[in-house]
Amino acid sequence: MRGTAVIVGAGIAGLAAARSLVAGGWEVEVRERHAGLSTAGTLLALWPTAYTALERLGAAEGLASVSVGSGELLRLDGRVLARLALPEGSRGVARMGLLESLLAGLPEGTVRWDSPFGSLEDLPAADVVVAADGVHSAVRAAAFPGARLRDAGVVAFRGVAPIESATGSETWGRGLIFGRAPFPGGGSNWYAGVRADLAGARDDDPLAVLRGLYRDWHPQVHEVLASVTSVQVDRRQIEEAVPLRSFVSGHVALVGDAAHAMAPHLGRGGCESLVDGLALADALLAAGSVPEGLAAYDAARRKPAQRAVTGSRIMNWLSNKQRHPWVRDALVEGAGKIAAQANSRRSARDASQTADKQNAA
Ligand SMILES: Cc1cc2nc3c(=O)[nH]c(=O)nc-3n(C[C@H](O)[C@H](O)[C@H](O)COP(=O)(O)OP(=O)(O)OC[C@H]3O[C@@H](n4cnc5c(N)ncnc54)[C@H](O)[C@@H]3O)c2cc1C
Repeated sequence: MRGTAVIVGAGIAGLAAARSLVAGGWEVEVRERHAGLSTAGTLLALWPTAYTALERLGAAEGLASVSVGSGELLRLDGRVLARLALPEGSRGVARMGLLESLLAGLPEGTVRWDSPFGSLEDLPAADVVVAADGVHSAVRAAAFPGARLRDAGVVAFRGVAPIESATGSETWGRGLIFGRAPFPGGGSNWYAGVRADLAGARDDDPLAVLRGLYRDWHPQVHEVLASVTSVQVDRRQIEEAVPLRSFVSGHVALVGDAAHAMAPHLGRGGCESLVDGLALADALLAAGSVPEGLAAYDAARRKPAQRAVTGSRIMNWLSNKQRHPWVRDALVEGAGKIAAQANSRRSARDASQTADKQNAA
């Protein structure tokens, strides 16, 4: 089916939906409140399904990326607690590069900049309205009056430091985590997850807060915090979506954080947003009517995305665990060993299958 869509928000979800709908022959207008792409954010880890979605959208070509398949989970003194492994094929991309790449494939004039959403009635007539306006979605507030966010109890600080990282690592303390990883094109992506009651006030100098909180941590953390300035630090209070019964109301569909905002601890929010964009277009293109297409989108995406919200909440809870952190660390260390054994068993199996094939040939 072909039709018309107005998409509110030129972020990851909105641009992915626009790219795939335009490719399917839909007429699309994207309305973005800002004058250009958002410059917030640093590195996005993309799990394989999301990277595949990016390839399907034709937006992976020419986009610089780094491998984020493996890294280390460190103790406060810098010793390795466990090896971290995202699924094979996970890539890290700069958020700005990703947005530029998605935008570049859209026909000139598809995005109307400086166009904040006012009301559903003010939007041009369209078969479908796509709410892609992020965690504090105004479209969601208008079309899903019962939708709620809850405070995830954590504040995220992040930036890009002008120093190199050989590999990715994350360190967990009491109510604090700190991570760093290579950034595409040079430098280090870094982030700090701080339990909200430790994070200071919004107006506090973020760097002073972080240097105080992490003063006893290992040198890899100090090195990063010594190399950045306060203005280079992005600080945001994390909120997550209370699960909705449907991502669809009438002809309005929620995608991305507007549908399923989650804590960043699994690096899945942007991934799910990309997949939403493709899934929405796939469902609409295959359907005989808009209601049928939107119902198929909801059936395909709501449960998997809400599972990612739950998984992220569990990781957030684990990383904030204040009492008995040694229990948490023992669990993580055990899980890391089991994962490493499973990995080496898989490698051995793959190697023997390859040898069998070679012998057969
Ligand atoms: C610290 C941190 C680290 C993260 N790391 C990862 C990671 O490694 N991997 C990953 O997959 N995800 C990660 N995420 C999550 C990811 O950033 C989000 O899930 C993703 O940006 C959501 O994309 P979106 O397009 O739905 O929303 P947004 O990126 O918020 O885009 C929304 C767009 O809508 C526009 N808009 C808002 N309101 C209006 C309005 N009223 N009218 C018009 N336009 C409007 C905004 O200006 C913006 O352009 C992380 C998040 C945080 C906070």
